[in-house]
Amino acid sequence: MVRRVSIFGATGSIGQNTIDLIARNPDAYEIIALTGGANVTQLAADARRLRADVAVTAHEEQLPELRDALAGSGIETAAGEAALLEAAARPADWIMSAIVGAAGLAPGLEALKHGTTLALANKESLVTAGAMLMATARDHGAQVLPVDSEHSAVFQALVGEEMAAVERIIITASGGAFRDWPLEALEHATPDEASSHPNWDMGRRITIDSASMFNKSLELIETKEYFGVRPDQIEVVVHPESLIHAMVGFTDGAIMAHVGPPDMRHAIGYALHWPERQSLPVHRLDLAQIGTFTFRAPDEVRWPALRLAREVMGIGGLAGAAFNAAKERALDGFIAGDIRFTAMAEVVEDVLTRLSADPGLSSAQITLDTVRQMDHLARQRAAEAISARG
Ligand code: NAD
Ligand code: MG
Repeated sequence: MVRRVSIFGATGSIGQNTIDLIARNPDAYEIIALTGGANVTQLAADARRLRADVAVTAHEEQLPELRDALAGSGIETAAGEAALLEAAARPADWIMSAIVGAAGLAPGLEALKHGTTLALANKESLVTAGAMLMATARDHGAQVLPVDSEHSAVFQALVGEEMAAVERIIITASGGAFRDWPLEALEHATPDEASSHPNWDMGRRITIDSASMFNKSLELIETKEYFGVRPDQIEVVVHPESLIHAMVGFTDGAIMAHVGPPDMRHAIGYALHWPERQSLPVHRLDLAQIGTFTFRAPDEVRWPALRLAREVMGIGGLAGAAFNAAKERALDGFIAGDIRFTAMAEVVEDVLTRLSADPGLSSAQITLDTVRQMDHLARQRAAEAISARG
């Protein structure tokens, strides 16, 4: 049976890995929509190669360029937010949600409303609006499949298990680029230094978020929202080898660990073929050669983002949307050279402190509108906190 597939964020790291898997077996898939941002050359090339129905760029000013690149191909072109939603509403069996940041939420929700299975790499969707996303899926009988490696690992460890038997979920963290740096050196770390990951090859933003552990802090919240466990049931352990992606601890004391190479095509492929397993082109581990798996507790002085995530889970409501937006804005500030690496967490903490003075943060209803408003407000507050430091 040919499956209808769309890829949102097709030009990014996850998107390209998804295309790599799909292009190995082109007859099995019909490509409905491919979307991207500024890289319209890549988007057009992939749309031609996979014979997509439509290619959408998020940037309206780039529509003429996309049109030119696809002239004569018979492939539709479109641009902008409304076009992304229209593409997400097109009938499909499976959609990869791999836009980076809060912009990934609306297209994913739209796909779920049409009953489409959502392979979710965009963790920000769960962080900003987890309850709404999961309720939308339930209401429309649609499946959300985790693609983040840790969450895919937990999902796989839970096959055949009852959630009632789950005591704890342990997600691993490599520690990122600065795991072994002296603490006082962190202050002077540059965006380029933060952009090199010891084990994984990912997009630039998520790689910097790995160095600060903001990525892991988003994943803590993602775990709570996706699996419906309490915050105190979720642990982070530093595992420099990045070979165990997550573990589930059960009420009988057993721990099921998911072991695999650090290659996102595993988690993407699991979601693509779920509930089956199919052969995937990932490296097979030689455990005797690897020899040891090591673990250590995460240092909350080095990585204050982890503490902030626990505060956010405690507040609930729109705190996740505020946290993510402040984090995204602080990251922009760091990349632009406006603030130091260590100031990102300070900025986010400032924003949370200011916004949580309003009880509405925890009690507000989560809708696309309230999430957007909070996103906007938190970015504004973060910009103020950044300029106060400049
Ligand atoms: P990336 O930066 O490589 O790619 C992002 C994609 O989103 C690109 O196609 C870009 O054009 C598009 N995009 C950016 N801003 C947009 C906007 N405002 N509107 C529409 N499209 C936009 O990112 P990535 O590393 O592939 O990550 C994608 C998502 O997957 C993120 O949520 C990330 O946290 C998550 N994730 C990534 C990895 C990884 O290995 N890269 C692992 C786990 C989870
Ligand atoms: Mg991850």
